[in-house]
Amino acid sequence: MKVLKFGGTSVANAQNIKLVLDIVINQAQKEKLVVVVSALSKVTDLLQQASLKAAANDESYKEVVADIEKKHLDALKELIPVSEQSGLLSHIKRIINHLETILDGCFLLGELSARTSDTILSFGELLSSYVIAEALKQNLKNSGYKDSRELIKTNTNFGKAAVNFDITNPLITDYFASNEAQVVVMPGFIASSVDGISTTLGRGGSDYTAAIIAGAVNATELEIWTDVNGMFTANPKIVKQAQPIATISYQEAMELSHFGAKVLYPPTIQPVLRKNIPIHIKNTFEPRAEGTYISNKVTSSANPVKGISHIDNITLITLEGPGMIGVSGSSKRLFEVLSQANINVIFITQASSEHSICIGILTDDAEVAENAINKGFEIEILQNKIDPCIVEKNLCIIALVGENMKNYQGLSGKMFSTLGKNNVNIRAIAQGASERNISAVINEKDVKKALNTLHERFFEDNTKQLNLFVMGVGNVGEKFIEQIHQQRKFLKDNLKINLRVIALSNSRKMYFDEDGISLKDWQALLENGEAANKEAFIEKVKECNLRNSIFVDITANAAVADTYAQFLKESIAVVTCNKIACSSAFENYKNLKSLSRKYNAPFLFETNVGAGLPIIDTVKNLIASGDKVNKIQAVLSGSLNFIFNNFDENHSFHDVVKEAGVQGFTEPDPKIDLSGIDVARKILILIRESGYQMEIEDIENQSFLPAACMETTNNDDFFQSLIQHAAHFEALLAEAKQKDSRLKFVAQFENGKASVGLQFIPKDHPFYNLEGKDNIVLFFTERYVDQPLLIKGAGAGAAVTASGIFADVIRIGNV
Ligand code: ADP
Ligand code: ASP
Ligand code: MG
Repeated sequence: MKVLKFGGTSVANAQNIKLVLDIVINQAQKEKLVVVVSALSKVTDLLQQASLKAAANDESYKEVVADIEKKHLDALKELIPVSEQSGLLSHIKRIINHLETILDGCFLLGELSARTSDTILSFGELLSSYVIAEALKQNLKNSGYKDSRELIKTNTNFGKAAVNFDITNPLITDYFASNEAQVVVMPGFIASSVDGISTTLGRGGSDYTAAIIAGAVNATELEIWTDVNGMFTANPKIVKQAQPIATISYQEAMELSHFGAKVLYPPTIQPVLRKNIPIHIKNTFEPRAEGTYISNKVTSSANPVKGISHIDNITLITLEGPGMIGVSGSSKRLFEVLSQANINVIFITQASSEHSICIGILTDDAEVAENAINKGFEIEILQNKIDPCIVEKNLCIIALVGENMKNYQGLSGKMFSTLGKNNVNIRAIAQGASERNISAVINEKDVKKALNTLHERFFEDNTKQLNLFVMGVGNVGEKFIEQIHQQRKFLKDNLKINLRVIALSNSRKMYFDEDGISLKDWQALLENGEAANKEAFIEKVKECNLRNSIFVDITANAAVADTYAQFLKESIAVVTCNKIACSSAFENYKNLKSLSRKYNAPFLFETNVGAGLPIIDTVKNLIASGDKVNKIQAVLSGSLNFIFNNFDENHSFHDVVKEAGVQGFTEPDPKIDLSGIDVARKILILIRESGYQMEIEDIENQSFLPAACMETTNNDDFFQSLIQHAAHFEALLAEAKQKDSRLKFVAQFENGKASVGLQFIPKDHPFYNLEGKDNIVLFFTERYVDQPLLIKGAGAGAAVTASGIFADVIRIGNV
């Protein structure tokens, strides 16, 4: 004989019940079955709602009852031929009338006892089992029905009654011994006291009903049919990457369910474990899926961690004070106080100093516990020997579970460092005595991030998810997104990096999608997004609270540069091509660097100098390996290089600058490039990265622009001034010709001094042949003395800049 249990979603409506009937009829051909059913999805909640409303004198409980009635009538009408409906419909109406009478009583008395509450809740399973048994009879004549209350006997701890197995087991065995039906349908969750009063086994308790029956009849197997493909490595509703666990031991399953894996009600294991009956968790909506097989076989797998679960609504209560030290009786007293108040302690940690003791309980119990403890230690509190207890709410417990974890070293280290890296604050640690779990208490707001990070760390083959929040989607930003779109699969397959764009913003609009923005149609999504607002953007990034978050600044905006500190403080990495922050006051630059270290959040800006060329990374490596930069010589402006490479007898200076603008090589305001400010910022950043302290004012800027050009206040006037001063530029060109050299705008650093300015570069100099919009940097260091370290290549352009940003993002992924 086999016992099958179908949960609330599996029997939610006629359509689902038909799937259940298919499964049952199919299996009934092979052997006898007991089919235990839950209430229709949400009905137990509705019954609870109705009872509370009635007791609170709120008449709308009648509407709730009408809703419950409709659900069952609708289901029945669809499952039973019209000709046979009338008797059954009136039976349902009779049950509903009975329910309503009890609720009317609560309403009149304004009262709801635990006993009445159980009677009311029992209607959910009574109704569902009736509908399903009748529907089954239509297809399988030899099927029957049995009210579980006649077989399962409990004490009167209403709400979560304890089963009396001595009475229950023989009742079940006797009943089935003489029962001929091929299939017997039974309501889950409900039972009765020895004198016949309805009780319930606790929310989610239908699993337990099925296990009690399976244990008593010595079933070959207990099948739990639910709405997911088995017991998963983590709650699949919270962790998208979670996978069903193929096989798991009773103990592991028990531990996972105790720590919140709702798919199995924790007491379910006990009755079947004793008889060694395997539990098979299956999906009603995907019956072909393998599901999870729970048995006493410990299967060895490479991964010692079997699953991760969590319990919400935890409160931490700490009792401390000098009076706790050395007083061996204080913990004993604490637990006595709690036990008298009927409080279930979920975990305990005691500081080794004995100065304090900390317990974790359900938040629903917090108020009672707090009062009981403060009362119990009243005298010590009055004498200031012990402080009134400290209560911290909004916490949750997360637990790693696995039979073999005890044989592996370093798992807890891995767990806590993974959480720490993602800024998940750990409030307390508890290692279960069974050594089958390691658990930690964290803030409720971090639970999604914590579960996902841990899942990634322990189950996802080291794949790392990076979550990008991108501000600025102009030329470079657009290319960046294109590159991500194109490379996503490659990164996943080869670098184990799962790159997701969570937010996009330009100056007008912003758009968020926590599941990752579809990069196929991001433009349209952004266009239909909400109005851009920098503060709201930052708040939303924080709210998302995703692991490995990276803020990517692809603007040239000073206000955006001002936001980096806020991100770094939340352990959110910053990648930027915006030079403003790193070339601002040294204090600010230093502060950002130290925040980055303190909060373990990378701050990368490779594209601040030489676009995609690996210049800053090279300096960092030189310094890290103990080298010292003595001198830097560089051509760092792609736009100025383009201009001076194209300026000749046939092309006027004015025309060449115009052309550079058209091709997108200059800033919108070309004076920023031509004045040398941009180059000064770049050399300043290189100097700082080389370990020197310097301010932008310390850099000598030998401008080649006539004063009148510098003084213009708009682009038109500026271009006009270039025409007016054409002779000045032609003279520079002539001088270069005469010296057999080329004009290059060079940045230089030596002996603690830095300058930027136009130079006549002779033929034998490495800068002479610098083509197009290329950049070049020479580093003269302690190790590179005669022959400098040289980096050269395209130093401007949207595609190369985007790829530089991309490289920074990948650097973070590889950490
Ligand atoms: P039923 O009504 O069938 O008894 P439940 O809602 O009680 O179903 O349990 C199934 C649900 O448990 C799943 O839909 C899922 O949201 C949740 N769940 C939580 N943790 C896990 C886990 N580790 N594996 C599978 N499901 C889980
Ligand atoms: N219907 C009950 C509940 O919702 C029991 C169950 O579904 O297992 O808690
Ligand atoms: Mg359940």
